[in-house]
Order: sequence, then C-alpha cells, then structure tokens
Amino acid sequence: MSLPVYLDYAATTPVDPRVASAMAACLTQEGVFANPASRSHIYGWQAEEKVEHARRQVADLLVADPREVVWTSGATESNNLAIKGVFEAAGYKGHLVTSVCEHKAVIDPAKWLEARGVDVTWLRPDANGVVPVADVRAALRPDTRLVSLMHVNNEVGSVNPVAEIGALCRQESVLFHVDAAQSAGKLALDMEALQVDLLSLSAHKFYGPKGVGALYVRRAIARQLAPQIHGGGHERGLRSGTLPTHQLVGLGEAAAIARNQLAEDSERTARLRDHLWSGIAGLAGVKRNGCPQAMSPIHLNVCFSGIDSETLLLSLRDIAISSGSACTSASMEPSYVLKAMGLSDADAHSSVRISLGRFTTMADVDRAIEHIRTVIGKLAVA
Ligand SMILES: *Cc1c(COP(=O)(O)O)cnc(C)c1O
Repeated sequence: MSLPVYLDYAATTPVDPRVASAMAACLTQEGVFANPASRSHIYGWQAEEKVEHARRQVADLLVADPREVVWTSGATESNNLAIKGVFEAAGYKGHLVTSVCEHKAVIDPAKWLEARGVDVTWLRPDANGVVPVADVRAALRPDTRLVSLMHVNNEVGSVNPVAEIGALCRQESVLFHVDAAQSAGKLALDMEALQVDLLSLSAHKFYGPKGVGALYVRRAIARQLAPQIHGGGHERGLRSGTLPTHQLVGLGEAAAIARNQLAEDSERTARLRDHLWSGIAGLAGVKRNGCPQAMSPIHLNVCFSGIDSETLLLSLRDIAISSGSACTSASMEPSYVLKAMGLSDADAHSSVRISLGRFTTMADVDRAIEHIRTVIGKLAVA
C-alpha cells in the first residue's frame, strides 16, 4: 500500500531541500552554532552575520527595510505581538476592527482584548469569503486604533483587497495589520504598495521550518507596539530570546527561494489546482467554495453535497486533505469561515480543503482525480 498523496499544503509544507541544507550548516560544532548575541568572539559574529543575512532576505521578500523585520516563533506569535502589542501600548483603550473569518491566532487575541474592555467590530465576509472595503470604511470610528485582516484565508483561499484597505487606513490614520501566513512567498508583497503597518508571516507555510516566523513592523510605528515577551531586549526590545540561527537561516533561504520563483511556483500550482478542479467539477453535487477569479494559487475548497466531511476524510484514503483548518479540525464543528460566507450547516459540513504546492506533480493530481471520482461515485450510490 502506498502513502496518500499530500494535498494539505495550506496546513504546512515540507522543508525545501535547499533550505534544509542551509539550516544543517548552523547546528553542529563544525557549523555556525554560536549565540548571535555573543559579541566577544568570532563564533558569535559569524552567527550574527547569518541572522542579519536572513533578515535581509525576508525584508527583500516584503520590499521592506531589514530593520523592520522582527523575528518570532511563527504567525501565531506575530499576530499576538501585533494585536495585543498595539493595544497594550495604548492602555487597552480604543477600537479594533477585524473579521469573523480570521485564523484563531487573530480571533483569540481579539477576544482576549475584548474581555479587557477593548471594543471590537467583527466584520463578516461576503459570499466569496472576502471582506469588502466598504464595510471596513463603515466600521471606522474616531477611536479606531487598529484594523487586523488576513490577506489570504487559510480555509478557502479567498483574497482580501489589502492594498485598498491599506490606503483607507493610512488616510484615516488607523494602524493596519495583515496576517499574511497564507500569502507570504505565494503572492507578491510590497509593504509600501500595500500601506501595511504590521504583517505576520510563518516559515512553515512556504517551505521553511516550523516554529519560526516574523512580524514586519513599519519603522514609523514601532514605538506604538509593546513587547509581549520580555527578557534580554533582543529585536530592538520588541521580542526577547536567543535567536535560533538555524531556524532564521531556514526562513531567510525559504524567502529568497520563494522570491526567485514566486511567479513560476504560483502559475504552476494554480494550473495543477485548476486541472484537479476540472477533473472533479462534473461530479453530481460538487460545488466549489469561494470566487475562482480572486483565489490563492494553492487552494481548492470543495463541497460534496450530501456527504459529511468526516465520511469524506475517512473514505478519501489515497489523498491527505483536511476539513477546513488544521487548528479546528479536532472538533467536528462545521467551518465558521464557510458558515460566515453563507453556506448552510449541511454544505459547510460537506466541504473539504484540498491544497497543493511546490512538490505536487501532475501524476499526484491525476491520481487524486481518479480516487475522488471513484470514492464519490460509491458514496453517492450508497
Ligand atoms: C498557519 C497560520 C497561522 C499560524 O501560523 P503558525 O506559524 O503555525 O503559528 C496564522 N494565520 C494563518 C492565516 C495561518 O494560515
């Protein structure tokens, strides 16, 4: 029996072999193992050089200044630092605008603030999973301090109009945070063009290692952010803790590779994804969630009407996929994102997320199509 085809790239990606070898050179005694904060010897200087090279690689991916890149343990921490950091610095006063279809790593910090007296407006997406700019505009108040919205939705792949929202926020002097965990390394990101103040990313979503990420902090607003982890004053005082050289080198390499082959990767993945969809679209009761014209290149969210996702995941044994996000799939609640888009409980319960990536092949996709057609045919008859 062969292993299932991995089609869960939105949950995490394998590390690119080029990234893995760069990381391996920063672990053992022969490699660059020292503490990058050690200023008194060459071992430390070499490690610091590696870390600062990685910082430039990430800054280049974002078209930002390296001084605007703050290392974190991943997008969850970046989101916490951005959202809680802004409101802590403001004495937990003011108004936050976010949406009901954010990742839990935004929703939970927003609820945490709400419990401490911060007023939160929870915007709802349209039927395609997109938060309309007009709704953001209508939600702004004189005391609005921060708008926090994701770039690409992790479950559906829908893309929010972040450049327009950024322009609006800048004009209204409101801080703008973007959770870009699903778009970094896949869609072009330019901090000046998007007019973003804070942006979260995570290495393991684009072929880097797990447990490392970054928060872009626009220089002009850095003083409006309170650190959430206190210690040795690393990262300009915004995030203490010894820097994990191998992890940061992995993130940097992943960013450099993504930047080099972004267009090529995205086109290729989107083509394979579209081929997969065309192979199953004709099946009875099959619908695609989200707007195909405004969609991340890796996502395919499909509703198999009348078949619940638990049965789907158990029956589709030859493909490794998920129902919605990995973080909520322990509970068999229907996806809150799909429900917010207006799907019925039944349709939300019958939807699965298929996501592709750099190492997906045409043979993988053809095997997935044939498998889905066979299994759905049997389930529909039963
Ligand atoms: C994966 C993901 C996160 C969490 O990132 P970690 O690095 O795993 O903490 C946050 N937001 C979105 C949209 C994600 O896809």
